Amino acid sequence: MRRLSITLTFVLIAVLLSATPSRAETANRDYGIIKNQDSPLAKLRSVDLKDVRWTEGFWAERFVQTRDVTLPRLWELASDPEKGHAIQNLRIAAGLEKGQFKGTGWQDAWVYKWLESACYIYSVTGDRQLDKQMDEIIEVIAKAQQPDGYIATQITIRGLQRFENPGHHELYTMGHLMTAACIHHRVTGKTTLLNVACKAADYVYETFRGRDPKLGDFPRNPSIIMGGVELYRTTGQKRYLDMANFFIDWRGSRYGKGRRNSWGMITSGSDLNQNWRPLRKETEVVGHAVFFTYLFAGAADAYMETGDETLLNALERLWSDLVNKKMYITGGVSPIHKAHPVRSLQPGHLSAITGDSIHEGVGGPHELPNDSAYNETCGQIGNLMWNWRMLAITGQARFADIMERTLYNSILSGIEVDGDDWSYTNPLRWHGPEHILRSNDSHKRFAPGTRHICCPTNLMRTVASWHNYLYTVNNKGLWIHHYAGNVFDGKLADGRKLKLTQKTNYPWDGKVLITLDAVESGDPFSILLRIPCWAKSSNLKINHKPTNIFRYKPASYTALEQKWATGDVIELNLPMSVRMIMANPLVEQTRNQVAVMRGPVVYCLESIDVPQGVRFEDICLPANAKWNVQHKPNLLGGITVLKTKALVIDKTIEKDIGGYYQVNDVALRHIDITMIPYYAWNNRREPKMTVWLPVKW
Ligand SMILES: [Zn+2]
Repeated sequence: MRRLSITLTFVLIAVLLSATPSRAETANRDYGIIKNQDSPLAKLRSVDLKDVRWTEGFWAERFVQTRDVTLPRLWELASDPEKGHAIQNLRIAAGLEKGQFKGTGWQDAWVYKWLESACYIYSVTGDRQLDKQMDEIIEVIAKAQQPDGYIATQITIRGLQRFENPGHHELYTMGHLMTAACIHHRVTGKTTLLNVACKAADYVYETFRGRDPKLGDFPRNPSIIMGGVELYRTTGQKRYLDMANFFIDWRGSRYGKGRRNSWGMITSGSDLNQNWRPLRKETEVVGHAVFFTYLFAGAADAYMETGDETLLNALERLWSDLVNKKMYITGGVSPIHKAHPVRSLQPGHLSAITGDSIHEGVGGPHELPNDSAYNETCGQIGNLMWNWRMLAITGQARFADIMERTLYNSILSGIEVDGDDWSYTNPLRWHGPEHILRSNDSHKRFAPGTRHICCPTNLMRTVASWHNYLYTVNNKGLWIHHYAGNVFDGKLADGRKLKLTQKTNYPWDGKVLITLDAVESGDPFSILLRIPCWAKSSNLKINHKPTNIFRYKPASYTALEQKWATGDVIELNLPMSVRMIMANPLVEQTRNQVAVMRGPVVYCLESIDVPQGVRFEDICLPANAKWNVQHKPNLLGGITVLKTKALVIDKTIEKDIGGYYQVNDVALRHIDITMIPYYAWNNRREPKMTVWLPVKW
């Protein structure tokens, strides 16, 4: 484990706040991660990236870590000629140095996602050195672009033919370029990267708009749909929205016919990339988790602009299928490493249809294995992005609930608590040294290099931009989706200024104090607070007086409408009792087991937190377990642990045959165990781990 000293102090955060660019410098800055202020079908509008500043607590600490550890570390690795070679690829394509291409077909996206992350950090810090560093690499990117707008070093350096193999990911890397360019323009006002992205998008638009059947299998990973819509929002150029729409329409438009490319791979009519059936007709989620979440997020973006209800109806159907039948308690969305796809041709009847194989994706309904759970971190990030867009469209809390569950569990589990090593897969059970490794599984988190490169920068841009996911506005008022220590200093939809402070130790504590620091006078407006799905008994006070408790329904927003004044205080108390959760009994792998949650955090048990000599697999929880909740500021970056008396099954066994044993002399005895947040697993040696534990009812 690489140990870097991180000083997470209020002093640092104060420095961070004082480095904030002035309003004059931010004249060109506007809008959030998605610029949906003018989107006709967005019910909720993003606030500006500059409007929210972290102050203290869980996310302030992670932001500082991302700025001070993760961002420089991923630049260092991208620049390393042996380990990363991502910068070198661009420099070689730009003619600035000689050499061969190294890495994956998506190596360029490392740099684009790094740039996007740097932009989010710059939007808060105004760090001129970082701005200069961005300018320098953007200059290289511009030189690496071909005269006709095409840019993909994995092809140009190797002299390969363009769009020969969807596995080369040319449209995937260009999609990330477009997103990064929009954010760069938004936070710096510069057009240097935006010009490159527009030129690339113009090229893609011209190349694909004729729908040449030979290009029907592109893109495989459809980041370009989100990138195209965002480019439309940023520039107002309709052809970029058209480009996004024809990629949505095209997918699955020649469904039902598996087609082999020149390499013999079935690439069309394939469930892997949702190509078997058009999105609008699809009834269930299939295939690669990053492909489907990016497709659905892009389609939600397109809906916000076009109002095409057939798209929204499909997205609602697919959301319901995923969340009810194919998602882990941690929010993980790719249970399957490799398999043949199965579909439910009729209720209760699964069938493999296309005969092609899928990987890193979903399987059939309730097919949720724990030890072989794949859950590539990027799939969960795609799911978060999709749910953010569904939230903007509907204003419904269930989407924010999924974002929260995913973020605190199967996204944060993808990074070491020190911020400088990553995991690609996020299983829910680990058998220690005997664990059977699937591709990209690892006993230890690792640094990315010429492989495994997608998740670290994707995770970094998510953490670096999380401040923009906390609030939205509309004509009702200010919506608060997520709780964390921060200051919001922005505007309501009617242009009135509003400043407020959230003070909380969430997710460890359920108390959230919201102080209105400055309210511009005018009509009453609402502050809408999300009551999470798990918060069954919340209470709320306004200016220290309790309010009607019957209003606080879980999985909904509570609208507090009144004429607000400077100095008003809202106190929300979310219940933080420890909860035992069971799964749908159709999930074979969790039958008679429970998972433990507190607030939004899923807990796990690691073998180093049980008494020596106890067989890890023999531990179970009594249904009436009493929990001792303790905050440990110096453990694993600061976590709240859960201690309890568990049960261990003492028994003798006799060999029956093979791996089967006869069980005799069973007795139960109590032992002390400590459970930690799932996201922090695998940071201390290489223990066994489980999220689900057998329960004695
Ligand atoms: Zn990834």
